[in-house]
Amino acid sequence: MNKTIRKAFKFRLKVSTETNQKLANYAGGCRFVWNKALALNLDRLNKKQPILRYDALDFWSKLWKQSDEYGFLKDLPSQVLQQKLMDLDKAFKDAFDKNQPFKRIPVFKRKGQSVDSIRYPQGFKIDQPANKVFLPKIGWVRYRNSRKIVGTPKNMTVSRKGKYWYISIQVEYETPEMSHKSTSAIGIDMGVKRFVTLSDGTFIEPLNSFKKSAEKLTTLQRKLKHKKKFSKNWHKQKAKITKHHEKIAAARRDFLHKKSTAICENQAVICIEDLKIKNMSKAAKLKNVKQKSGLNKAILDQGWGMFFDMLTYKQDWNGGMVIKVPPHHTSQKCPSCHHIAKENRLTQAEFVCVECGYKNNADVVGAVNVLTRGLSGASL
Ligand SMILES: [Zn+2]
Repeated sequence: MNKTIRKAFKFRLKVSTETNQKLANYAGGCRFVWNKALALNLDRLNKKQPILRYDALDFWSKLWKQSDEYGFLKDLPSQVLQQKLMDLDKAFKDAFDKNQPFKRIPVFKRKGQSVDSIRYPQGFKIDQPANKVFLPKIGWVRYRNSRKIVGTPKNMTVSRKGKYWYISIQVEYETPEMSHKSTSAIGIDMGVKRFVTLSDGTFIEPLNSFKKSAEKLTTLQRKLKHKKKFSKNWHKQKAKITKHHEKIAAARRDFLHKKSTAICENQAVICIEDLKIKNMSKAAKLKNVKQKSGLNKAILDQGWGMFFDMLTYKQDWNGGMVIKVPPHHTSQKCPSCHHIAKENRLTQAEFVCVECGYKNNADVVGAVNVLTRGLSGASL
């Protein structure tokens, strides 16, 4: 049995003044049509007449579009207005649904008070390598990328929050329900010296793409300093630096993809510490350590968050699962006798239980504890 997963990816758009104006006009047009159709139906309700459903409302909106008075609606893509009317139709339907007692009759949308949104059911495109989306009647708009979009895009919604515009891409993908070809489970310990340590004792060295390339970056930046600001050569040098940054990012992404794919193909269940908490506790522990900034840089450089995202969606694809566990004491607990003590961890690298004498690499012990905790159901 396959199950269909629906998921949304949301990014902030980088809009030009012109695009900003267009989107504001579209949002205004959507509000107008919503309010006009709503007023029509409220009036009918008042007169005890049946409300107009979508088809009738769509007919009306086409008339408004052709009128001189509301001719500004012509600038908007038809599908955007139709989506708004469908939303209104659904809102009315829900309001009269006895199974949804908390739904109320829809209300008027006011500028700046209600969320402005513009939904495209079709005609949009995504160019992932370039981080841009194509919006009908607007063109290509770039977005701030934070993760890879997976699945089949079903629709796109542009919405405004504060002074920014966001794009939300709804995707759908089929995944076999826990049908991973493997039946094994593994625990993962994330680290700085060893990027990943698995509970079976194997580990992955960090790529440290930044470290390797930092020297080159410094050279490039030093050269930039010697150029006259905003001169032709300065711009050229600046472009070189940007390109170098992109190269580093691409190498890191490639590394994370390869490693996450390998783990996901072999393991039906992956147990991993909750990274947010782990990062926080690491940062707290390191408060007095001089190299704190260096370590944080190392963590960022290795892309823990990105790696975790990849593991999660690849497991979804493969029909496996990822279990997040609370990280407390995973590095201090003895896997053999379960004794918890700071003293079990006298050095960074080695674990020696003060109670029973069990010995192992400290990261492997961490990974084993994560696995045990995940499988025992102690997930977040
Ligand atoms: Zn022990």
